[in-house]
Amino acid sequence: MNDDAIIQTTCPYCGVGCGISAQVNGNTRQVNIRGDKSHPANFGRLCSKGSALGETVELNGRLLQPKVYGRDAGWAEALDLVAGAFTSTIEKYGPDAVAIYGSGQLLTEDYYVANKLMKGFIGSANMDTNSRLCMSSSVAGHKRAFGSDTVPGCYDDYEQADMIILIGSNAAWCHPVSFQRIRAAKEANPALKIVVIDPRRTASCDIADLHLPVASGSDAIVFNGLLHFLSQQNALNKTYIDAHTEGFSEALNSAENSSGSIEQVAAQCLVNIDDLRCFYQWFAAREKVMSLYSQGVNQSSSGTDKVNAIINCHLATGRIGKPGMGPFSLTGQPNAMGGREVGGLSHQLAAHMDFSSADDIDRVARFWGTHAIARKQGFAAVELFDAIHDGKVKAVWIMGTNPAVSMPNADKVIRALQHCDFVAVSDCIANTDTTALAHVLLPALGWSEKDGTVTNSERCISRQRALFSPAGMAKPDWWIITQVARRMGFEQAFQYRNAGEIFREHAALSGFENNAGHGLRDFDISAFAKISQHEYDLLQPVQWPVNQAYPLGRARLFDDGQFFTPSGKAQFIAIEPRPPVNPPDKNYPLILNTGRLRDQWHTMTRTAIAAKLNQHKPEPSVEVHPLDAQYYALLPGSLAVINSQWGSMIARVQITGSQKQGSLFVPMHWTEQYASQGRMGALVNPVVDLVSKQPESKHTPVRIKAYQPVWQGFILSRRELAVTGSEYWVKIKGEQVYRYELAGETLPEDWRSYVRKNLCRTAGENSQWQEYQDLAKGNYRAALIFNNQLETVVFISAGNHLPERNWLTGLFIRPQLEPQERMALLTGMPPLGVPDAGIIVCACFNVGEKTIRTAIKEKGLKTHQEVGQCLKAGTNCGSCVPEIKALISS
Ligand code: SF4
Repeated sequence: MNDDAIIQTTCPYCGVGCGISAQVNGNTRQVNIRGDKSHPANFGRLCSKGSALGETVELNGRLLQPKVYGRDAGWAEALDLVAGAFTSTIEKYGPDAVAIYGSGQLLTEDYYVANKLMKGFIGSANMDTNSRLCMSSSVAGHKRAFGSDTVPGCYDDYEQADMIILIGSNAAWCHPVSFQRIRAAKEANPALKIVVIDPRRTASCDIADLHLPVASGSDAIVFNGLLHFLSQQNALNKTYIDAHTEGFSEALNSAENSSGSIEQVAAQCLVNIDDLRCFYQWFAAREKVMSLYSQGVNQSSSGTDKVNAIINCHLATGRIGKPGMGPFSLTGQPNAMGGREVGGLSHQLAAHMDFSSADDIDRVARFWGTHAIARKQGFAAVELFDAIHDGKVKAVWIMGTNPAVSMPNADKVIRALQHCDFVAVSDCIANTDTTALAHVLLPALGWSEKDGTVTNSERCISRQRALFSPAGMAKPDWWIITQVARRMGFEQAFQYRNAGEIFREHAALSGFENNAGHGLRDFDISAFAKISQHEYDLLQPVQWPVNQAYPLGRARLFDDGQFFTPSGKAQFIAIEPRPPVNPPDKNYPLILNTGRLRDQWHTMTRTAIAAKLNQHKPEPSVEVHPLDAQYYALLPGSLAVINSQWGSMIARVQITGSQKQGSLFVPMHWTEQYASQGRMGALVNPVVDLVSKQPESKHTPVRIKAYQPVWQGFILSRRELAVTGSEYWVKIKGEQVYRYELAGETLPEDWRSYVRKNLCRTAGENSQWQEYQDLAKGNYRAALIFNNQLETVVFISAGNHLPERNWLTGLFIRPQLEPQERMALLTGMPPLGVPDAGIIVCACFNVGEKTIRTAIKEKGLKTHQEVGQCLKAGTNCGSCVPEIKALISS
């Protein structure tokens, strides 16, 4: 490695926005990843996903060349085609017949030009983004309360708080570095109270003093009840309410009328009354309270009301804008905030201006020098794909996202794209469920090649810098968009030569007619409007606003009690809690909840490349309460089929008391690239919040039953296989091995030829196999060894009597098999005395469950710190600490 080539950049995954120090050997596309000790989001920490970024920069699987109707093409042809299709569609059907669907993965500069093209020059606001699925309820709640989409606080507040509430947020897995920081704050200050409000007992409860397992969708009742309680206890800040807010009486009346007594609140939310009272008393007694919330609050048909119910309690106590306190929306994606800054949602215009103000429209039109500016909001995500399905939108350009998997009612999204006249997709990955539906594929730069800025959950703008030169013919998203814009006749407005020029224009727009750098609008980074390219290259993390009044940025807003409403006062919103739109019924009696796993990111296009990230939860799973499992006759480790009125999926059953009875949880990540029937989006409820248009992804009525295949099995293979002969399959990339979990509904007459023709064709049909077959019991086992190295093993069982995979998987990294290993191969069990690590718990150091259990038992380890000293497990990112603690207590 070249010591000089250390580049500061940022992680491309969650909204924590961790800084990375990347030590690059540019000649080999190898990079050594470390947390950036100077970055204020993480001070050197990284989670398992961030730590494994170096394993995801390989070129295998990348989209390296434009493709037109399935064939390789040059840039000129592909760009001409996109521009031509958009232009002809607009000429024939008008500007609202085209759309862009973007992503929180886009850099701010990419987002800016896409938004400018669509809203400023095409003249339609049909530009929406997958951030709609993630935090648009927070945006709407902020806007209603503050008059602006402002996150008031910052990460430094974690260390200063007296109480931190995690609402609908499994931060331990979804925002792991923030969670580790909260854990450290708690360890340094045991008086810091942590409360988790979540129907599930998640890993975040590991540090909780109190867990309220509320009924799905009842958060607004909890916080209306809290407002009522604070009033009863004289715990309100009347001075603050009078001086800085409006609408308090209406909000309190509504809270009192809807919540009733504390007993009634507990009964409605299905929580223990003493626990609820304890939470309310803690809130009332502590000044420095932070309310952290994410998708569990946002992804709801009343998500905006839930956000405002939380904000109401902070306004009523004046706990906002000061150190250690305030409502705090944890954004899901690395640049969800940057997308909001440029106006990437279809109801936004640009730079925190929107279509509700004629002055804003006029201002942005003058700044951009356009007469064609859109004047009304466009389709939000669910509406957009419905409009494509209904033929209203005839040409769509999807950028850096995978809606065929991630959207609710995802099968309908596939049908919509299949019948759309023109679909262009920009992506860095060649084969996704969405690229499969595109007429034109445009190869975009991936993380490690991109260059621009992102903004994290605490408004901190950081540079994402290129580590390598572009892969193949891949280009920056801003370049691709600019080239299309020029071909559509908008040359003058899209003359950018680099990302820095776009950033300066974005900064200038934020300060345009914005009180001369003193911020009439909250988002103001006008201090960057004239920075040089060199200064842009060296830009250090800074929290907006960055303007004349705050040239070095601003950690907290609203500390002065001034808000961005016409009166300058914050607005209470009267909340009438509403139940989810589709309650369970006799056909679909259970509630499906969805969310992230610890080691995967979104639709796995990148994280599944890193072998170590696939070991913790290798298959689509469904978490089921023990009583539900008993009722539906589901066994641990068996397969189950889950149906909603919109679609179905198959998942491996995990029985856990962490799950609330009557509800299920499935991870959001699997696609058709990695599992035959693991797309949870196919099931999910497309109902949206009326204010934010965010879908209700946490509450879908479903039913579940055991999936009973005739046979089950697995294959481990050094080479990727073309598996065709099983109804259920999951592909898991490991260290020098691909693992396939299989199940089939038909029993073949002859396993030998079936395996070789259908399951392992590419492993070598005519090779010499070791085999064992027990037709009476329906067992078939086979192994292929080449040069004393294991090439493939196959285990099939008519029941589900299969060995664990860990020992066999580990044999693929051995340079040579030992004789006793060859002999033990078809038993699937390690020879006597050879340890089996078990399922991987610590992804950073590859430490398995059995290794940890053995060390705990044999060495008498009593704390996770002792396990860390002994095995290193849990000492890097700390994401597995809750599981290590669970192993110690078990
Ligand atoms: Fe990346 Fe993990 Fe940091 Fe999120 S917490 S930004 S995934 S390293």
